Amino acid sequence: MTRRLVIIGGDAAGMSAAAQARRMKTVDELEIVAFERTSRTSYAACGLPYLVGGIVTSPDSLIARTPEQHRAKGIDVRTRHEVTAIDVKGSAVTVRDLDAGLESTVHFDELLIGTGASGLWPRWPGIDAKGVLQLRTLDDAAEVERWLVAGARRAVVVGAGYIGLEVAEGLLKRGLHVTVVERLDAPMGAVLDADMATDVAGAMRAAGIDLRLGTAVTGFTVIDGRVATVETAAGAVTGAVEADIVVIGLGVRANAELARAAGIGVGESGGIHVDDRLRTDQPHIWAAGDCVESRHRMTGQSVVVALGTHANKQGRVVGTNIAGGNAAFGGVLGTAITRFQDLEIARTGLTEKEAAAAGFDAIGVTTEASTRAQYYPGAQPMKVKVVVERGSGLLLGAQIVGGADAGKRIDVLATALWNRMTVAEVAGMDLSYAPPFSSVWDPVLLAAGKAAAMI
Ligand code: FAD
Repeated sequence: MTRRLVIIGGDAAGMSAAAQARRMKTVDELEIVAFERTSRTSYAACGLPYLVGGIVTSPDSLIARTPEQHRAKGIDVRTRHEVTAIDVKGSAVTVRDLDAGLESTVHFDELLIGTGASGLWPRWPGIDAKGVLQLRTLDDAAEVERWLVAGARRAVVVGAGYIGLEVAEGLLKRGLHVTVVERLDAPMGAVLDADMATDVAGAMRAAGIDLRLGTAVTGFTVIDGRVATVETAAGAVTGAVEADIVVIGLGVRANAELARAAGIGVGESGGIHVDDRLRTDQPHIWAAGDCVESRHRMTGQSVVVALGTHANKQGRVVGTNIAGGNAAFGGVLGTAITRFQDLEIARTGLTEKEAAAAGFDAIGVTTEASTRAQYYPGAQPMKVKVVVERGSGLLLGAQIVGGADAGKRIDVLATALWNRMTVAEVAGMDLSYAPPFSSVWDPVLLAAGKAAAMI
């Protein structure tokens, strides 16, 4: 008998699961129905800042697979359909056809919740004014583009995390005057230790960004329905920043309301609770992607880390399991990378601050090195910081900030963390060397060796 898999959400997690299940099961064995409330499926949100900046020139190039392409593979994708409720006991979802305005009930044998995350949108006075934008979807990018074409000259980006940084770079590239307002005392303050973030702040200012750190936004003044100024309070001083557009980039929260309303377990992190096979606490109901919490491999804590790399892997795990295989998701280290112009920024595992908060007796050791042999043309400075457990020498985390080709070295350190290596073991690893790529001691080896000598 044909079983039916219903998927809520037609992007990375949902459609990776669909594709994997379809590879393993025929249409006669498994019917796959995916509901997506927008009109698009499977697009690369990660490319949106580069679309805004004009590095990527066509929005269509960010679409990995259209609804028609999914249908051609035997996946019944229904766009502009929103799931409004899950009936756990009755194994059914309530679906609203957003164009026809009709509601129906669809039975499932297996259900995957892949509803993603939403950008934080604080209830600041004036936040709903025209010109206050976010960048989460292709439609958002089109809206930013409309404002740029209409002549926006001054932009304020609220939040100096990954997306804030990438958007600021893009808007700068398009010739706008860009101000970045950040509540913390450093850009990327939630993901880097302060000493590593200094170089990021320096690069932003050198590029012409008016970077206001330690400055909390309190609201917006609105004239004729449009945003005019961003109100901030920096200690006792209150300032105002003029803006034609404001882009909010304050991080995300998991879209777990549907699950919570249905009685499916949601963790303290705000993400849907799943086991390592990505089962929720209800039979035949699975969840994956930005809407779930994952186990942090260094602390064992449940965390929401909303990244495409996890969403795609988790989707594949669920697809395999639903199709009768046995796959597990191994947890997260918080490995991430971005760039501001020529400066690459990457991290994995715990920062020094996070390690202390998790109860580790940790030290941070920073090494200054070079991306290539120092005599080789194009060599750029780079810094590697490793966070190490005192006594055992266990590597707990790493951060890299530096010029071209510095950042992806984080993957070596992430591999070491994944395998719970000590810095002494990392320092002895067989890494590649030739002058155009590194010095004879790769910066990763130098950093690990320096730390091993200090603990
Ligand atoms: P989503 O992509 O959010 O998809 C969820 C889908 O579910 C959405 O299409 C939504 O419309 C739909 N949906 C929700 N509720 C319902 C409902 N009730 N009924 C029907 N449909 C519903 N990650 C990286 O790893 N590296 C990067 O460089 C990176 N850069 C990024 C840059 C930007 C600007 C953004 C916004 C994100 C970036 N990410 C990056 C994160 C990455 O895009 C997400 O982690 C990934 O898209 C998550 O996939 P998902 O399927 O879990 O959720």
